[in-house]
Amino acid sequence: GNLLLAIHDESEARRLESVRREFIANVSHELKTPLAAIKGYAETVELALEDDPDAAVHFMSQIREQCLRLERLVAGMMQLARAQSGQQNLRCASISLAEVVTEAVKTYRPVAAAKNIDLQAAKMDPTVRAFVDREATLTIANNLIGNAVRYTHDGGRVVVDVRGEGPVSWFVVDDTGVGIEPEELNRIFERFYRVEKTREVAGGGTGLGLSIVKNLIAALGGDIRVESRPGVGSRFAVALPAEQGYRCETQRG
Ligand code: ADP
Repeated sequence: GNLLLAIHDESEARRLESVRREFIANVSHELKTPLAAIKGYAETVELALEDDPDAAVHFMSQIREQCLRLERLVAGMMQLARAQSGQQNLRCASISLAEVVTEAVKTYRPVAAAKNIDLQAAKMDPTVRAFVDREATLTIANNLIGNAVRYTHDGGRVVVDVRGEGPVSWFVVDDTGVGIEPEELNRIFERFYRVEKTREVAGGGTGLGLSIVKNLIAALGGDIRVESRPGVGSRFAVALPAEQGYRCETQRG
């Protein structure tokens, strides 16, 4: 027994060490790109200041954009660290799922309007309740609706739905967007993972959103499913506990 335990401990320690290394490698890589850009632009600004003030202004705005990207990356990494550690201060209570989702929909109305995307949320069942942490649920909804709008072409459609099914309360986001290849479906939940083809579309995407979503849903005792057809669209369906269970017990404070 003890020997087995020791072997198990050692392989677990080795696994954790490799996870840690991979994480540091990822983080370094992600931070290096915007830092290199900022450095390059800053050097060019110095040269352009006298001869070409317009170009200098342009480089300054590029620097600003890369700083915002760094800020998003750092914020995303901290959010992911909190979600993964289980240190998130979850305060679960029975809430109206449609009410939280509506708040997220409101946030993305202007973005959808700018892309002429038909963002529908009219059919949500207002009586459906979920026993969850409100903030965590809002983060989940914001990420999924934000992605749906981001990865859907101009003139497309995003439909958000909330419905109850016994002990499970569903929150579903459908889009008519670019879709995801079958071999990418599992990978999109990995931290920093972004589908090669959509990197341009994503612009400032960090690849952290879905890993944050996955960890939060796990902490709430829920589940997430994805169905997608490339070129047709995607469906992200989140199952949350309708009533108090034994999962969301990490309540503190
Ligand atoms: P990102 O910041 O890149 O959006 P996410 O973790 O939120 O990071 O998503 C990871 C990848 O999954 C995205 O880069 C994109 O390729 C793909 N993806 C996520 N949501 C959708 C969607 N609704 N439609 C198509 N692709 C999506």
